[in-house]
Amino acid sequence: MATANIRAQCSICNKGNTTYICRGCSKDFCFQHLTEHRQILHRQLDEIINDHDQFQQTIIEQKQNPLNSSLVQQINQWEKNSIHQIQQTAEECRKTLMKLMQNSINDVEKKFIELSKKLKEIREENEFNEIDLNDFQLKLTQITEEFLQPSNISIRQDSQEFIKKISVISSFGMFIQLFHFEKKEIEV
Ligand SMILES: [Zn+2]
Ligand SMILES: [Zn+2]
Repeated sequence: MATANIRAQCSICNKGNTTYICRGCSKDFCFQHLTEHRQILHRQLDEIINDHDQFQQTIIEQKQNPLNSSLVQQINQWEKNSIHQIQQTAEECRKTLMKLMQNSINDVEKKFIELSKKLKEIREENEFNEIDLNDFQLKLTQITEEFLQPSNISIRQDSQEFIKKISVISSFGMFIQLFHFEKKEIEV
């Protein structure tokens, strides 16, 4: 690697007694600076070996636990965010529904009290016929149905995607579909 070149000067100290040329960088060095130059190269080689060893370690770890890769972490993150979004939406819907149900129950209760009064009245007056009985029966059925299944509250599911779908894509054009969620919403 080092060859004698009498005419040239050392590129570090400019002395020209006996110089050696490094074929790697084409620079001339005296013996002392050639030694230092070689030491620098050795340190650089050590750094490369160090990087190499670290990478080897990474391969071993990745083989032992492939689920640690950054791609898997992207999927995990998507999963976490999506679940959070769903839970948050469900929670909002439950809160809205609770309020609406409360209003609905109050409404039914008012109608029920009114019906009770009228029932009491006709019983006390002792004046009723089949038409009254049918009328009361119908009203009671209506109130019961309204209470069990409020007609002004329903749950709607949107057709558009709420959670963005993800896939795994390879350069071979192969992809595996993952999950797909739809939005749930309360219709007021
Ligand atoms: Zn060199
Ligand atoms: Zn020198």
